[in-house]
Amino acid sequence: MSLFDADPRSALEHYFGFPAFRPLQEEIVRDVLAGRDVFALLPTGAGKSLCYQLPAVVSRGLTVVVSPLIALMKDQVDSLRVVGVSATFLNSSLEAHEIARRMQGLARGEFRLLYLAPERLCLPNVVENLANWQIERIAIDEAHCISEWGHDFRPEYRRLAEVRLRMPQVPVLALTATATERVRLDIIQQLALHDPRCYAASFNRPNLTYRVLPKARALDQLVAFVRARSSESGIVYAHSRKQVESLALKLNAAGVAARPYHAGLAPRERARAQDLFRRDDVRVICATVAFGMGIDKPNVRFVVHYDLPKNLEAYYQETGRAGRDGLPAECLLFFSGGDAAKFRAFIDEKEDENERAVARAQLRMMCDYAESSGCRRRTLLGYFGERLEVDCDNCDNCLEPPPTFDGTLLARQFLSCVVRVRQASGFGVGLNHIVDVLLGGDTEKVRTWNHDRLSTFGIGKGTSRDVWLAAGREFVRLGLLLRTAGARGALELSNAGRAVLFGRRDITLPQTVAPTKTRRAGAAPSQTSARPDGLEDALFEALRVVRRRLADERDVPAYVIFSDATLRAMARQRPTTLGGLRSVSGVGDKKLADFGAAFLAAIVADDHRTVSHGGTAMEPDGA
Ligand code: ADP
Ligand code: MG
Repeated sequence: MSLFDADPRSALEHYFGFPAFRPLQEEIVRDVLAGRDVFALLPTGAGKSLCYQLPAVVSRGLTVVVSPLIALMKDQVDSLRVVGVSATFLNSSLEAHEIARRMQGLARGEFRLLYLAPERLCLPNVVENLANWQIERIAIDEAHCISEWGHDFRPEYRRLAEVRLRMPQVPVLALTATATERVRLDIIQQLALHDPRCYAASFNRPNLTYRVLPKARALDQLVAFVRARSSESGIVYAHSRKQVESLALKLNAAGVAARPYHAGLAPRERARAQDLFRRDDVRVICATVAFGMGIDKPNVRFVVHYDLPKNLEAYYQETGRAGRDGLPAECLLFFSGGDAAKFRAFIDEKEDENERAVARAQLRMMCDYAESSGCRRRTLLGYFGERLEVDCDNCDNCLEPPPTFDGTLLARQFLSCVVRVRQASGFGVGLNHIVDVLLGGDTEKVRTWNHDRLSTFGIGKGTSRDVWLAAGREFVRLGLLLRTAGARGALELSNAGRAVLFGRRDITLPQTVAPTKTRRAGAAPSQTSARPDGLEDALFEALRVVRRRLADERDVPAYVIFSDATLRAMARQRPTTLGGLRSVSGVGDKKLADFGAAFLAAIVADDHRTVSHGGTAMEPDGA
């Protein structure tokens, strides 16, 4: 096919081997090709790269991609070369003569794409050079780096405004997965996008399973969890450097190839850990949150949070590093009330009252997520203002709903106590004080406010403090109580709460809130997604070996050859002809020509093996 008059759909097939666009990709590509400024907000794994790679492939000029992920530029360029697209990158890892060579190529128009590190923009002459290279568009990946409000601010990104001024006619595509409104507006403003078309995809990541386990004997649980997933890559996040080091050692002792990663390591060591992980030489990275944006590894199969994350946004972003390839992946959080209390104490030490209030509210939402018995995905997406209409069926609470009991009496006692306090004092109080009153506590506040004279004083003595606190938080989650803004979080009865209090509605509570705990704690989480059968697994492993060999020969990471998603599809479909192989998603024309024979040979060999073994492998386990 001719390079330049290809329509986007056939180019998608020809180069990338994908039968269809993912949501919003086609619209974005068309607007980009029409020369519009575009702002695209798509979650991790949605396929943002394709939004600039595809237009680059079907255009004559050069597409410049600005990205802060220098460590990944080579891989991305290699990935493009492997599908037959000429691309290059300029960053500080190159020697001067190599840079000069590449710049000559750029002047001759040899490349469709140029990946550029943002600090290049600060060097003399670079902006002038750009103007000489027939730039057709600029794509700004991880565009939130331009905003000081975001967590990855890069001052060099500010130079983009200048580039914009110099080349006002060159359209800009800004891409990000950032979820905060303020950062989004800041991006559009800072880049001075002209009448941009804005796209925002749902933040739902249906292939991720969310789970929370009570943090008890967490180390054993972690080791069991990781060992149960014997050939899969994952990330374990923990708070402190010390903890990260110790977890890596413990996993090593259990026979798992794991490495620590934190800001205290030398840059060389960090780069090395990241490299080993990307190339599947290390299976698990134990990391602080310093291990972040640079992880573009598509086949991260699990993300475990050993400690409580700072807030739900951080949790979403960190878990988002799992399952970029669209295959099932797991997110596990270890939660304990003790962790939350430690965090609270830490927050109390903050100087600024405002900051304290924000941090408390964020922690509260994080705990709500962890303690809730409802759909976790709904809570998570709700945080970003997205509504999930039906339960997700892919979190622990949906898959194994916790047992429940009739909590109507508990609720009435609690709610009436909230009402009595307000009636008597004329102001609202927080959860802790309500529980003090219910328990008949002799505290200073109780005495000062004369709350020992209330009819609800001491009516809850038969139930422990922990249970009352958990129940109170559950009533808030259920919407029976509203929590007013502000540091104290005073409680107020809602209409739904009134209905319960006046006997028009009953309440069911999860057993976790009941006086005796029954929810299982220790076991490693059950396997969630339907696992492929043994036959498919065996072939998948064989295909991985072939991929590994081809990758090593070319000195590239395995996923540059084919993604796990593509190998899985091959193992499932078992094509035995080049035509059949070509129809597997992710197999484009060039990869078919270069790698097809090797993979076909492996499939055919596997067919022979299973047939000559009398078909035993065909029978499901235990049949
Ligand atoms: P993002 O940058 O949005 O996190 P990537 O661009 O890294 O996502 O893409 C994630 C994965 O999805 C990659 O493995 C990519 O090859 C794959 N992908 C992208 N678009 C498609 C598509 N239309 N069909 C199938 N796979 C796709
Ligand atoms: Mg990306």
